Amino acid sequence: MDIDDVRDDITEVLLTEEQIAGKIAELARRIEADYTDDDDVLLVGVLRGAVMVMADLARELRLQLNMDWMAVSSYGSGTQSSGVVRILKDLDTDITGRKVLIVEDIIDSGLTLSWLLANLRSRGAASVEICALLRKPEAVKVEIDVRYVGYDIPNAFVVGYGLDYAERYRNLKSIGVLAPHVYS
Ligand code: 5GP
Ligand code: MG
Ligand code: MG
Repeated sequence: MDIDDVRDDITEVLLTEEQIAGKIAELARRIEADYTDDDDVLLVGVLRGAVMVMADLARELRLQLNMDWMAVSSYGSGTQSSGVVRILKDLDTDITGRKVLIVEDIIDSGLTLSWLLANLRSRGAASVEICALLRKPEAVKVEIDVRYVGYDIPNAFVVGYGLDYAERYRNLKSIGVLAPHVYS
């Protein structure tokens, strides 16, 4: 789906399809510089928002890798994460001794990722790093060391390229700011 298909629901296009693709390629080059085929890096995608990033990043990487998925839900008001996280779908992979790279769509408060980092490290992974396409620096509540960040964006609610509002807009090819009339 293109922006034109939901023009009235988006106030501003933040990142075009081309910009996203360029950034994914840039992130892939940086990741390739840090790992080798022998590392057998395990990409862990966080469902469901990271599906598009994962699909594009994995195909862009010239690296032997595995992919697995986790689904987590953060207890709270619904619009804000509380930091108390529940696993809805766990990894199928034993990550003991593995080099893990978490693939995320966006870091907002950082609470979910901070919990996930601790959880995966406690399983005895050799390393756990994070790759996030977007980060909202103004919203960060907990400092986490994110090795690969695509774009720092303003503190607005964005949708598209995997990111939803009430499960809609995930299939939008670009990323845009959701118009207030949609959620008010
Ligand atoms: P955190 O624990 O960092 O606050 O929560 C991050 C999660 O909240 C993201 O993985 C994403 O699912 C959701 N989220 C945070 N900001 C946005 C946003 O601007 N748009 C959308 N669609 N989801 C967001
Ligand atoms: Mg996410
Ligand atoms: Mg969501």
